Amino acid sequence: MPDVFADLVGQDEAVATLRRAAAAASAVLRHTAGERALALTPAGPGAAAGDGEPGDADGTPGGDPGAGMTHAWIFTGPPGSGRSVAARAFAAALQCAYGTGCGECPGCHTTMAGTHADVRLVVPEGLSIGVGEMRALVLRAASTPSGGRWQVVIIEDADRLTEAAGNALLKAIEEPPPRTVFLLCAPSTHPDDVSVTIRSRCRVVPLRQPPAAAVAEVLVRRDGIAPDVAQWAAAAAQGHVGRARRLARDPEARKRREAVLAVPRRLTGVGAAFDAASALIEAAEAEAEASVAEADAAERAALETALGAGGTGRGAAGAIRGAAGQLKDLEKRQKSRATRAQRDALDRALVDLAGFYRDALVMALRAPVEPVHTDTAALANAGAQKWDAEGALRRLEAVLACRAAIEANVKPRIAVESMMLTLWRG
Ligand SMILES: [Zn+2]
Repeated sequence: MPDVFADLVGQDEAVATLRRAAAAASAVLRHTAGERALALTPAGPGAAAGDGEPGDADGTPGGDPGAGMTHAWIFTGPPGSGRSVAARAFAAALQCAYGTGCGECPGCHTTMAGTHADVRLVVPEGLSIGVGEMRALVLRAASTPSGGRWQVVIIEDADRLTEAAGNALLKAIEEPPPRTVFLLCAPSTHPDDVSVTIRSRCRVVPLRQPPAAAVAEVLVRRDGIAPDVAQWAAAAAQGHVGRARRLARDPEARKRREAVLAVPRRLTGVGAAFDAASALIEAAEAEAEASVAEADAAERAALETALGAGGTGRGAAGAIRGAAGQLKDLEKRQKSRATRAQRDALDRALVDLAGFYRDALVMALRAPVEPVHTDTAALANAGAQKWDAEGALRRLEAVLACRAAIEANVKPRIAVESMMLTLWRG
């Protein structure tokens, strides 16, 4: 079995940080064997509200952020970048008997297989992780590790914690049991994903999009995709593993991408720019709706069944009245998930579009770099002739500014319209 970090493609920096932390964790164990509680490096940036400890830098270069070990970590990155792969590998490294994730010892082996007694993986089945589940988890995580090393709790979708569950987790993170480590996975540290207070107590491990060649290799090796398709998809997905796999396999995903890449040649005037903005927004809405519709219906049906809706016996009416609040709660959470799905779909489209203008820019500069979108390379080249490097750069910046604006909660339609006008006028 290879090293536990082997499947974490193109994340050298994160792996180095995690290895240092695992080594520090081992050192802590050696120095405190049979003794009192450990003193781990406190986490959290200086900005942490109410945190008197200076802590150390959270993943930023300088200040040796990986030197110490801490009780709580957040792995961030877009879906498919390997957040849960990284968390599991780190858990194995913490349980490794011989090093920092040798992959051979029982600690590594059982963690990777999901059978280690002191490693708990939380994968929410429903829409969110509830407070009951979290309290039980926190309680068990406080017990002494049976293997003598660490109690590790991996929470795969920390962005799905309910507020109450988040508070239960926060309490545990604020006063962590001496041998307990929490590993959270979330798309980002945006307050929509992770509460500011939890985030302030965690060290962040940002994951990057791996290089296209590495992604293509994984698609061929693990998913059995033909090498030429894998290479095209990995380049077009700009190193995003899951996106690359979808492009290689799903004709609908390919169609959506083609529609986005048709935008630049359609921008022939102000009216066309507004039309293109509407089309982009509506496509993202449709894609998001399709992606959540099935889950929404299943969850609602499950909740209704659990609450006894449709029952005719005495008391059913009262139960339904009491259930109304829960249904409302579910609808609220489903709405927030739909919003998130829309934002994700729109962001994917913007990333594709940015790739196109990036291609035009490198062509204008005659940089010896492979294009992101091989299939629109001729069009990008025509753009490069027409706009020059400066014009291509202005357009690329307009796309990136649009992404940033949406991330900062500007209304998507306004941000996209403004972007389209710049893409047209330059
Ligand atoms: Zn090992």
